[in-house]
Amino acid sequence: MNIHEYQAKQIFAKYNIPTPKGIMVESVKAAIEAAEVLGGPIWVVKAQIHAGGRGLGGGVKLAKSIDEVESLATEILGMTLVTHQTTAEGKLVQKLYIEDGADIKDELYLSVVLDRKSEMPLIMASTEGGMDIETVAENTPEKIITIPVDPAIGFQGFHGRQLAFGLGITDKIEQKNIIKFAEKLFRLYMENDAEMIEINPLVKTGKGVFLALDGKMGFDNSALGRQPEIAAMRDLTEEDADEIEAAKYGLSYVALDGEIGCMVNGAGLAMGTMDTINYMGGTPANFLDVGGSANAETVAKGFEIILKNPRVKAIFVNIFGGIVRCDRIANGIIEATKLTDVNVPVIVRLDGTNAPEAAEILKNANIPNLIVGNDLGDGAAKAVAAAKGE
Ligand code: ADP
Ligand code: MG
Repeated sequence: MNIHEYQAKQIFAKYNIPTPKGIMVESVKAAIEAAEVLGGPIWVVKAQIHAGGRGLGGGVKLAKSIDEVESLATEILGMTLVTHQTTAEGKLVQKLYIEDGADIKDELYLSVVLDRKSEMPLIMASTEGGMDIETVAENTPEKIITIPVDPAIGFQGFHGRQLAFGLGITDKIEQKNIIKFAEKLFRLYMENDAEMIEINPLVKTGKGVFLALDGKMGFDNSALGRQPEIAAMRDLTEEDADEIEAAKYGLSYVALDGEIGCMVNGAGLAMGTMDTINYMGGTPANFLDVGGSANAETVAKGFEIILKNPRVKAIFVNIFGGIVRCDRIANGIIEATKLTDVNVPVIVRLDGTNAPEAAEILKNANIPNLIVGNDLGDGAAKAVAAAKGE
């Protein structure tokens, strides 16, 4: 789960991590009031969406008067912001953050991410702040410092020194400041079950103080149960509406950009099914795990959500009957075709418990568009052919 910059900055404040003062607003009137409270003389008007690259997309702008705050708020609020991290359709800006303009001497980069290779949280830093870190990694990888921190020992002095020296910070007070900054950031990361925290840019002011000018945070969804304050920060309007709808029915759904809708039970089998579709020359339109307790209603809901995607040309149902029996799924599919208008070919491969009964049920149902797949490869090949109109 991701949160907005203004929320990340609330959490920074809780940990005494310095950030510029700012106020989140949802109207132009509130933006003017916020600017008055902050007092200026320079303000930054920042679009709040769950994506980076807002500056380049025109969603972060500097104002030198309250009138300018007003005109920028009018311009940015309600705009559809397209950045390199959004889809081509962009994201509607519903919230703004009005922030004190900072006195920037140096722009750095600092993040904590989970490194699956070292199986540890990793502190990443660079002197190349304000730029896309992926670009820095590609063109000048030597400018990125990586410091794995074993959670069993936590953040230690040597980690801090490695960071300060790596960033070329020579002033004693500045060294102390950056080390304290990183120490608090690491504690925040661990205590809140974060998956990644990125501060880009982390700026050094004219006074040698380090400020988090931007803040991006993502959290482990499985830990939200024990992080009620983080969970309360969820902004569903920033998430995919179909994925939320699917979750209500216990379905894990992720939209992709291919042509074959997939309905599968179990995440591993769903991944395998998508690979097989690719292997057969097709492209999956989604990941959909109907879970272990699939019934007619969830299968119908699955069809409905898959078919909302206009790119879908065929649906491949690949279900292995373990706990859930194939005959129940077969009946579920028949029921589902009555509840939802399924207007594309449906390829069904059912195997496992009561597979022969299921085959009989499907054969007798006489559903047009329904094609039986004999095994995974056969089903995937038939789905690919059907999507191509063969
Ligand atoms: P994004 O990464 O989405 O583009 P940022 O918050 O990093 O958004 O803002 C983009 C740029 O705008 C920053 O790199 C910085 O140069 C400038 N900026 C952002 N906030 C401030 C601020 N409070 N004061 C001065 N400049 C700012
Ligand atoms: Mg940024």
